[in-house]
Amino acid sequence: MCGVVGIIGPEEAAKEVFMGLFTLQHRGQDAAGILSYEEGEGPGFHLWKDNGLVESVFNEEIVNRLPGRMAIGHTRYSTVGKSDNKHDIQPLVLNYPYGIGMAHNGNLVNYYELAEKLRRERHRMPLTNNDLEVIENLFADALLDAGNKSAELSFAQIENAVSSVMRSVNGGYSVVSMIAGQGLFAFRDPRGIRPLILGVRDAVVTDIVTGEKSTKKAYCVSSELILLSFLGYESLGDVKPGELIFVNTRGELHRKVLPEAVKEATPCMFEWVYFAGAESILEGKPVYTARLNLGKGLAKLVQRSIELGEMSPDIVVPVPETSRIAAIALAEEIKVPYREVLIKNRYIQRSFILNTPEKRTKAVDLKLNPVKSEIKGKNVLLVDDSIVRGTTSKRLVDLVRRAGAKEVYFVSTCSPIRKPCFYGIDFPNPEELIATDRNEKQIAEALNADKVVYLDQDSLREAIGLKSMCMACLDGKYPTDVSAGIAFEKRRRGDRRGKGKA
Ligand code: SF4
Repeated sequence: MCGVVGIIGPEEAAKEVFMGLFTLQHRGQDAAGILSYEEGEGPGFHLWKDNGLVESVFNEEIVNRLPGRMAIGHTRYSTVGKSDNKHDIQPLVLNYPYGIGMAHNGNLVNYYELAEKLRRERHRMPLTNNDLEVIENLFADALLDAGNKSAELSFAQIENAVSSVMRSVNGGYSVVSMIAGQGLFAFRDPRGIRPLILGVRDAVVTDIVTGEKSTKKAYCVSSELILLSFLGYESLGDVKPGELIFVNTRGELHRKVLPEAVKEATPCMFEWVYFAGAESILEGKPVYTARLNLGKGLAKLVQRSIELGEMSPDIVVPVPETSRIAAIALAEEIKVPYREVLIKNRYIQRSFILNTPEKRTKAVDLKLNPVKSEIKGKNVLLVDDSIVRGTTSKRLVDLVRRAGAKEVYFVSTCSPIRKPCFYGIDFPNPEELIATDRNEKQIAEALNADKVVYLDQDSLREAIGLKSMCMACLDGKYPTDVSAGIAFEKRRRGDRRGKGKA
């Protein structure tokens, strides 16, 4: 999972992208990058990217070196390639047949197959382990194959090339891209697995020739609404599944749902459960409301457990941050005091996102301090957004026990995760997932908890309020063909361990 943004129109587009990337930091913390484009005789593209958080990668002086009225940016959460490999950091740039800069959020299931094909049939030598490189090369080849050499590309020419990409790739992806001298474009996969939203605002710009000032439309595409709101863009709604957006350098907006779009969209349910910022609205469904509903749904199951004498909580405790909203709703429903007694060290990264067990273990130890005076002698109901491998959850249970809790119950707003994700979230192999081949009782034993409760899939669907979603990591019903998935997963993990790519 990553955060993407593309802006065209304002005088200092990269400055806006830089500010906006802070609001997308929760989507990826491995690396960050910005590519800007400046009209004129100079080099055109200006790029800066590095490993680390936005604030450590950029400073004012660096951002001042990224001029122009068009820029794209990225916060990286690595799923393909090693997380510290600098070559894999986005945006990526190509210089033929046009200058093309690109960034994306998502994952291709058939990445290795396509990379191999590009090597074999097009004699392209991949320079990264990043599946974006495949998308970018396929797009460039599609422009070339259609004989596009004109000084100005039309919307139809870009549309045909993007359609061709969509027919080749299999996965979940949201792409933002710039073509030097042409404009900014963005598209979302045919099923809308990964989010993307479009916004507009007025921007005062100075004509480079006459020096006259005028008001023009500026456009922004972003992974989430929070970025648009923060930068003062008015939302024009989600980019639809399979839709292409193109804004040329004159500021003319074109948009079209391409024929590759499928009827039944399947956005990722995990955006509402965990990934998206609570202020965001995806597919018209506010994330905050969904999380309140998740808590209310869980409350019914917890209430039943209380009535059956399986638990008797004295306090409801959220595992910061994501589960806080659901925990408040749950506590209100079951009328048990809500207590924030796991105090977060805000300078430690989100542990689920960290991609090695060592990093995750360290993060939990450093991240949360229990308030012993409030925990001692009490039955504690811990609320978390999900249980993935169980390592983090077990450490949390142990932490609360060591703080003097009498009994510890663990409840999850997400249903049991039993299958891997091939669309951009680093859920591991089934063998590493704690819910594979275990029931709630066995999971409680493995976590050293007195009771474990998961929200069921129907209630999860109801809480978010969408009829059709990807819930494949829960029910195994993948919206695209993932038959190459296991091989993909093995190779992906090989890459992550530094064994190199095939
Ligand atoms: S498999 Fe799970 S995490 Fe992956 S896209 Fe589908 S719902 Fe989201």
